[in-house]
Amino acid sequence: MKIIMLGAPGAGKGTQAKQIADKYSIPHISTGDIFRANLKAGTELGKKAKEYMDQGLLVPDELTCDLVMDRIGQEDCKNGFVLDGFPRTIPQAEALDAALAKINEKMDYAIDVDVPDENIVNRMSGRRACLNCGATYHIVSIPTKVEGICDRCGNQVVLRDDDQPETVKKRLNVYHEQTQPLIDYYKKQNILKTVDGTRPMEDVFGAIVEILGA
Ligand code: AMP
Repeated sequence: MKIIMLGAPGAGKGTQAKQIADKYSIPHISTGDIFRANLKAGTELGKKAKEYMDQGLLVPDELTCDLVMDRIGQEDCKNGFVLDGFPRTIPQAEALDAALAKINEKMDYAIDVDVPDENIVNRMSGRRACLNCGATYHIVSIPTKVEGICDRCGNQVVLRDDDQPETVKKRLNVYHEQTQPLIDYYKKQNILKTVDGTRPMEDVFGAIVEILGA
């Protein structure tokens, strides 16, 4: 099962993607996580990506596409995968389709987690992330057991630079300009499914499982 998660930054697609990956035993591939891991490891890719991420801009397609194509070509992806945060532009979607067409494959589902902008800005200010292990929380809906401390690894959780309110507004503009056109792109391919992302997380996941099958 090959799945794309679509939705504005902060719509909750990452949380849903992780749960889908667990339930269907397929890898969760988050380009944001890959960039952050590179940044932490001090790679050239990480340093280049940070320049764009901190400004709320997209990392250029040429830095993004190859790393995703390499990742989905790995052995653990042969039964499928869930893409979280990729594609984010029409050229990325076309590159993905072209890479899959070469091996006679195509994406099965593009799931749009739909949340209006006003909810997004509120949600993002409560988001907390562990810069050590990548776990994400929300001060209201997914709090850490001990305030400010990651449940998984015990490091501090913080408001990421790219979740700061000004950056969030910029990321939303970028989303509307560059990523939202993908909704029509996948509608035309007949693989678009929309779920209401304003509902409680468990209900959103329930709606996704209904689409994908138990
Ligand atoms: P995310 O964790 O998915 O919200 O991604 C955080 C940041 O990483 C984004 O705001 C972009 O700067 C960058 N990024 C992640 N995925 C992509 C992508 N597919 N194309 C370009 N930039 C990306």
